[in-house]
Amino acid sequence: MKIDCKHVWHHISAYIDGDVDALLRAEIDRHLEHCEICSAILDSTRNIVVLVADGRIFEIPTGYSERLHERLDAAMAEG
Ligand SMILES: [Zn+2]
Repeated sequence: MKIDCKHVWHHISAYIDGDVDALLRAEIDRHLEHCEICSAILDSTRNIVVLVADGRIFEIPTGYSERLHERLDAAMAEG
């Protein structure tokens, strides 16, 4: 199985939660090793999740996912 950036973005929440199967996790790990875009997205997504899990921030900042999607769209447009 070969995955691309869109697959990673689709599964990134589940990946962080440890909620993907071992095969998919291995594919995502392999992809992240050579993809700076997905690595950056994983880092920023993880930061939000950690803040929420920490209990001190209960809401994802307004517009966060909107901005993320804009970034993803821009990244895709660049190819
Ligand atoms: Zn990627």
